[in-house]
Amino acid sequence: MDPIVIIGSGLAGYNVARELRKLDKHAPLTIVTADGGEFYSKPMLSNALTKRQAPAAIPLNSAEQMAQQLPATVRVRTRVTAIDTAAHRVSIGEETLACSKLVLAFGAAQIRVPIGGDGAGAVMTVNSLDDYARFRSAIDGKQRVAVIGAGLIGCEFANDLAASGYEVEVVDIAGQPLPRLLPPAGGALLQEKLAALGVVWHFGTGVKTVDRDSGAYRVALGDGSIIHADIVLSAIGLKPELELARAAGLATARGIMVNRHLETSAPDVYALGDCAEIEGLVLPFVMPIMHAARALGATLAGNRTAVSYPAMPVLVKTPACPTIVSPPAPAAVGEWRVETAADSVKSLFVDAAGKLLGFALNGAATSERAKLMKELPPVLA
Ligand SMILES: Cc1cc2nc3c(=O)[nH]c(=O)nc-3n(C[C@H](O)[C@H](O)[C@H](O)COP(=O)(O)OP(=O)(O)OC[C@H]3O[C@@H](n4cnc5c(N)ncnc54)[C@H](O)[C@@H]3O)c2cc1C
Repeated sequence: MDPIVIIGSGLAGYNVARELRKLDKHAPLTIVTADGGEFYSKPMLSNALTKRQAPAAIPLNSAEQMAQQLPATVRVRTRVTAIDTAAHRVSIGEETLACSKLVLAFGAAQIRVPIGGDGAGAVMTVNSLDDYARFRSAIDGKQRVAVIGAGLIGCEFANDLAASGYEVEVVDIAGQPLPRLLPPAGGALLQEKLAALGVVWHFGTGVKTVDRDSGAYRVALGDGSIIHADIVLSAIGLKPELELARAAGLATARGIMVNRHLETSAPDVYALGDCAEIEGLVLPFVMPIMHAARALGATLAGNRTAVSYPAMPVLVKTPACPTIVSPPAPAAVGEWRVETAADSVKSLFVDAAGKLLGFALNGAATSERAKLMKELPPVLA
């Protein structure tokens, strides 16, 4: 029998494999991954400095250990180059690999904004352990880091770097940190607390050029200001990897489109994780992956199972200002009700009847998370 093939060894790929193995110890299973196949928690990449963890200490298991534990064949540093859904085959360059079922778990790519200047090519991004190892060796012995993007990943890196003694300047076209997750009062508290840690903010402007300048970089902003940095890190956001899926003729929108059963538009082909759009939702976070992996593991083991999502708040790793967000659904109609106190902002998104649809908690208000979570509607019932 041809193996079940999973493309990708991130949290999505490996967690599906683990869930499958809880139910079926024997189905042939092959994981093909472009990276080194280490099993690691990606969220740790943005707080490893303060936790004094070197990149090599982050993986929980090597690819060999995963292959043995699952068990599965794990092919590392191996990139799938094409998918033939009708023939149930994937191509790895000249080689083809037959599969009984195929799971697409190839994640997302960092969005890059067009930047001019002779140093633009040196702007770094971090979306994998390999990226992070490069970033850590680049900042070693350096002092000044410019971060492009004040979203979740940009703020977490800013906190981690500043708390570890780096001089950090953050640039964002928006007017506050976490502009899509926090109403202004919450953004203001996060901004203030990270500023107290030494973070310098540049809001309402973007990076125009990055030029090399005596072994460092000169970062020119749209508002005319200049940042002198040793390293420039871009954390603008992620977009699902769609190239292979599109070339294979699979239905895509913002992500690879799947239904509640994680089924793509082709039979026996499934998708989950950062590359997938489940019933219109692209949720590039750990909790949705864990729920989807459990459902898909059961389906692959022969029990077709739909995923459902409870409310899934995201803990933002900015210890300078503890922050937990559970954003309302994009189509939700309501208003933010904000209560501020010293070092605390509690923002509740409620509908006309006063029903809680989302929240954003900063500082001391984060202690209310468990209570508020019980009131939230499920993300996907
Ligand atoms: C710095 C950082 C901090 C984060 N913090 C949090 C957090 O605190 N909380 C939270 O909920 N979420 C957080 N996230 C998001 C979360 O980590 C991701 O949603 C999750 O790890 C994505 O897992 P994935 O398996 O879908 O994708 P990935 O981890 O990107 O894995 C994709 C896999 O596919 C492989 N691949 C890609 N293309 C091919 C190909 N053609 N052939 C073979 N293999 C291929 C890659 O090598 C990789 O193994 C964070 C993300 C980052 C970057």
